Amino acid sequence: MKVLAAEDNPVSQSMLRAMLTKWGYEAVIARDGNEAWQALQADDGPRLAVLDWMMPGLDGVEVCRRVRAVPRESYVYLILLTARTESQDLVEGMEAGADDYLTKPFEAHELRVRLRAGRRVLDLQQQLLVAQEALRVQATHDCLTGLLNHGAILDTLHKELARGSREQLPIALLMADLDRFKNVNDTHGHQGGDTVLREAAGRMKSAIRRYDALGRYGGEEFLFVLPGCQGADAFAQAERIREALAAEPFTAGNRTFPVTCSIGVSYRTVPTAEEAGILVQEADMALYRAKNLGRNQVTMAALTV
Ligand code: GH3
Ligand code: MG
Ligand code: MG
Ligand code: MG
Repeated sequence: MKVLAAEDNPVSQSMLRAMLTKWGYEAVIARDGNEAWQALQADDGPRLAVLDWMMPGLDGVEVCRRVRAVPRESYVYLILLTARTESQDLVEGMEAGADDYLTKPFEAHELRVRLRAGRRVLDLQQQLLVAQEALRVQATHDCLTGLLNHGAILDTLHKELARGSREQLPIALLMADLDRFKNVNDTHGHQGGDTVLREAAGRMKSAIRRYDALGRYGGEEFLFVLPGCQGADAFAQAERIREALAAEPFTAGNRTFPVTCSIGVSYRTVPTAEEAGILVQEADMALYRAKNLGRNQVTMAALTV
């Protein structure tokens, strides 16, 4: 783990370097406040820092203040080194954002345990970030297929529509529904149905570009948001998806059988931000027609413009 030691006195510098190295840290030495500030700003910069209070350029307190002024995801734990002992000074240092302080001259083992305390705080924060990220994924993804869930794919649609309207970029929407899926459940059981849903989701995902979005809209319904896509391109993309299911039979348990889907397509050449609802409705109606025309096919929404 990297530890920044900011200290203008060369003797103290080499002492700090020796101690940190001995305790298994990677010592990053700054010779003044500006160097310290630079080092802490780097993306992979140290997250644990020992800052001398009195330094040329920026002093330790000012470095603390600057670090705290920048909102950042991962915390930086700051220990101030001070020769001052008056309590008013310490209050100033802590209020500037320092987490802890040591009064010079200090005992090596005291710095060692304070660094350890800092590491514990950083570890806890890291665990929180991981848990937070896991919760975010859980809240936005469907657990059966791993695709975006209903709310998240609609969020994506709103965002992409806003962007499309700002940048005058077309956008297409595909609503896909597995054909006669009730039969799959009836014949192969609910578990067999789940297996097919996962496999279908995987094939659909493989058939789209990286910047397209796909979500599980409902039970066996999938919504695609295709930025920059319209007309014949949108139709061709929907055909590729349909083909990804139809081309190869599916397997559940030890049985192999065909599964197909029907897809409705809607799009706007020049989208406006508020059209999400109507675009979904158009794709849904087109899907309904694809079902009535015999399923396993793609149907374009009637153009409203
Ligand atoms: P159509 O071609 O008209 O779409 O026929 P369908 O049978 O697919 O349509 P319907 O909407 O009647 O049936 C959808 C079925 O999807 C019914 C429901 O039990 C099943 N289903 C929905 N969600 C899940 C799920 O998570 N797992 C499984 N196994 N089945 C599901
Ligand atoms: Mg100094
Ligand atoms: Mg269906
Ligand atoms: Mg359905």
